[in-house]
Amino acid sequence: MYRTHTCGELRLADAQRTVTLAGWVKTIRKFGSITFIDLRDRYGVTQLYFNETLTADLDANPLGREFVIQVNGKVTERSSKNNVIPTGEVEVEVTDYLILNKSEIPPFTIEDNTDGGDELRMKYRFLDLRREPVRKNLELRYKISRAARNFLDGQQFMEVETPMLIKSTPEGARDFVVPSRMHEGQFYALPQSPQLFKQLLMVAGYDKYYQIVKCFRDEDLRADRQPEFTQIDCEMSFVSQEDILNTFEGMTRFIFKDVKGLEFEHDFPRMSYDEAMQTYGNDKPDIRFEMKLKELNGLVKGNGFAVFDTAELVVGIAAAGCSEYTRKQTDELTEWVKRPQIGMKGLVFIKVNADGSLKSTVDKFYNEDQLKQMAAACDAKAGDLILILAGEKNLTRKAISELRLEMGQRLGLRNPEVFKPLWVLDFPLFDYDEAEDRYIAMHHPFTSPKPEQVEWMHDRSKYADIKANAYDLVINGTEIGGGSIRIFNKKIQESMFAALGMSPEEANEKFGFLLSAFEYGTPPHGGIALGFDRLCSLLGGSDSIRDFIAFPKNNAGRDMMLNAPGMIDEKQRKELGI
Ligand code: ASP
Repeated sequence: MYRTHTCGELRLADAQRTVTLAGWVKTIRKFGSITFIDLRDRYGVTQLYFNETLTADLDANPLGREFVIQVNGKVTERSSKNNVIPTGEVEVEVTDYLILNKSEIPPFTIEDNTDGGDELRMKYRFLDLRREPVRKNLELRYKISRAARNFLDGQQFMEVETPMLIKSTPEGARDFVVPSRMHEGQFYALPQSPQLFKQLLMVAGYDKYYQIVKCFRDEDLRADRQPEFTQIDCEMSFVSQEDILNTFEGMTRFIFKDVKGLEFEHDFPRMSYDEAMQTYGNDKPDIRFEMKLKELNGLVKGNGFAVFDTAELVVGIAAAGCSEYTRKQTDELTEWVKRPQIGMKGLVFIKVNADGSLKSTVDKFYNEDQLKQMAAACDAKAGDLILILAGEKNLTRKAISELRLEMGQRLGLRNPEVFKPLWVLDFPLFDYDEAEDRYIAMHHPFTSPKPEQVEWMHDRSKYADIKANAYDLVINGTEIGGGSIRIFNKKIQESMFAALGMSPEEANEKFGFLLSAFEYGTPPHGGIALGFDRLCSLLGGSDSIRDFIAFPKNNAGRDMMLNAPGMIDEKQRKELGI
């Protein structure tokens, strides 16, 4: 037997027992003629005591950090106890030990706070994974997947695997492609999601499907995206939107309770896409704090202030308790909105002083009364600072939404231990792609329009107004999941493809199998997919999904450990005909 106990197991009640432990040498502390070693495994750390004789052996044949050893010894009560770790009341008095394997000196210390930079840690990820915070993250990930599975199993969902080598049908993101050796010159694609397979499983009568599944999207990587990521992917038959929202609100509650012991008191609030855009400036509002956007167009035009007069949108927020901001602070905020990522030309301030009087950077153009009206429109109270942006509608909304989040952050209103979920509903069916001058599906082309608006799909002038039965689950300003009620009628699906600019031939070539399936008795169905990595990072209180993936890629989509992607040799290339 390699061990009788793990390194996280021994307690005072085990004193006097003879035990065998095995693990990694975490630290070695020599005190004169005796030595203490902390031995680590997945379960914890146990202190080992090496007496004079054994210490003399160690001197002759030294151990190093990360050596793998096995020790026999007796559990004894420690004189100086360590209350921080569960094994801290005992140590093992070693009688004999064996080196099972040596280790090079690791390139960074395997401690909670390590000296290894990001790239180095990724290159030696197998060492990084030994660190407790990283292990805890992966344990959390496992707990969340287990909770999701338990919940879905209890609701009669069945996990079905779907293929990874499929056909390229780029829509939304770019596909990763895999050359076929047996069919020279042809390619498989890796799935962006199992979307069509889960719909076909509904056609096949499987009723409730789920899969915790890898998805692949060849996108230019924005911060904290991974080219391969995991979804909790689900689909249900004979359901309305309401059924789906209830089921997955239930799953979210179950996971939070199981993993964090947290219960949400109220039903998850619901908000339309339009309201989210208008009051928060984006479709994934962080509702841990108010600071809602207030449109001021009706109050500010025609006073000779060209910036406002020419703007498509003038919009403000009231930052509570910030009226005392110094010139330096307001200048810094102005610079903040001028950064290229935000792209605004300037920022207008109105201070609502403690006595209710107002002071503004646009005093020249607006009298006290008008400023008061603006302050009232922004729900500003004494002591608040109103921040106003103006410009083209979409850009300005995006900018004020970022500014709101920034102010929320600065004011400590975005506590990672507070969780505020909400459903965003009624997304537009289409999005207009300026660059390509065509409509694209906002969610994906299998999403159904609101039944009363189906006819509008034949009238391009109405496209922008068509709403979908599509929904997102948002928590703390992060999109955790999204889905829709699907089209299940061949004619409507064909209209959808046509609206997206596909000829009938093209639609058949790409999606013939789906259109054909729709001829054989398709039930009404709908589903959702939750971003599993993102859910883990949210529950783990981190901004980075990489911390919750065992072997992640870096921000450039590169696996630093494997050094992938890499070249393939000439022979392989020839075989593949590329
Ligand atoms: N397949 C969709 C996605 O990956 C989710 C869904 O509609 O169920 O976003």
